[in-house]
Amino acid sequence: MFECAGIAADAIAALEVWVVRLPVRTRRAHGIGDIGGEVENVILRLTTEGGLIGWGEASPWPAFTGTAGAAVAALDVQLRPLLLGADPRRVSAIMANADAMLVGQPEAKAALEMALFDLLGKQARLPVAELLGGRCRDRLALSVSLANPDFEADLVYAQDLVDRGVGIFKVKTGVAGHAFDMHRLETLRMRFGASIDLRIDYNQGLQPEVALRCLRDIEQFAPTFIEQPVPAHCWQAMARITANIDTPILADESVFDACDARRAIEAGICDAISVKVMKSGGMRACQRVSAVAQSAGLPCYGGDMFETGLAHLAGVHLVAATPNVRLGCEYYQASFYLQEDLLAEPFPVDNGEIVVPTTPGLGMAVDEDKLARMGQRVSSRR
Ligand SMILES: [Mg+2]
Repeated sequence: MFECAGIAADAIAALEVWVVRLPVRTRRAHGIGDIGGEVENVILRLTTEGGLIGWGEASPWPAFTGTAGAAVAALDVQLRPLLLGADPRRVSAIMANADAMLVGQPEAKAALEMALFDLLGKQARLPVAELLGGRCRDRLALSVSLANPDFEADLVYAQDLVDRGVGIFKVKTGVAGHAFDMHRLETLRMRFGASIDLRIDYNQGLQPEVALRCLRDIEQFAPTFIEQPVPAHCWQAMARITANIDTPILADESVFDACDARRAIEAGICDAISVKVMKSGGMRACQRVSAVAQSAGLPCYGGDMFETGLAHLAGVHLVAATPNVRLGCEYYQASFYLQEDLLAEPFPVDNGEIVVPTTPGLGMAVDEDKLARMGQRVSSRR
């Protein structure tokens, strides 16, 4: 072990994992499946010999990335030997080793990297954004998604959010038919006019043979972008749409990592990319996706899964420190979708924007009473 800036190594002494079940406010319908009742996420706590705590979260969506059970096994069984006794400052080496010993499992790796950066930031007394290159933004424009099959309820929800300063909405389409999508978009434009920024996300919900016709229809509502209109593997259809639709096409499910991004750009399947900590396996992996996109002049968007405020914080530091992620972000679930968040203090949303924390590490901690109430500890090994 070595000393760095006068700080001796403080090795990881304990790794603990919880499965948390988080009740949500409403059912939601998406092109790749519904969410309702509760979501199941995984919380990781790393403790050093000196007593510092680093928090991480894996937020899988089975229809999109993976399962909570798989993330538990990845962290608690596969990655545990790599972590106990390790110097948490060596984030690059630990993550490279994690990639070498475990294929895939990006949500587990996201949780691990998040907890390591939380520890590193606390040791260095710097927010994670500063460790990722330094912040270029202090506040982030927040988008909230509308996906309730009960559209009247979504209108009430949207009005409440507008009253709180939210100005960006992403409408989840491609589930209940094109006529319903047209009705919703027309109603939202009539209700809120040009004062709101509308984005559209099909979550793969259109079949390629009808996609162009549907998208030409919805362009009249002036969406800022259209996200993942067709199935993830339909790259030729994505390229045809990107070439024929004026509205920017954003790739989400088609692009998980930097390799996907390079191939997607070569194939011309999109005008922009959604980066997600849970898809890519960490904040720095997202920065690599953004760098590839930037090399071709494509901007990125800060997407997420059904996360608590803890995982949101990783996304917030990522977007704060990455200039090319300039289409806003959607870290809204902790404030506006979960019935109760896990953080010990409210997730920092102010007048439709996220305020990037300035305290060391991720900047906020898990409320351990809530964790005990909503979570089940799956490991007692130390
Ligand atoms: Mg999406």
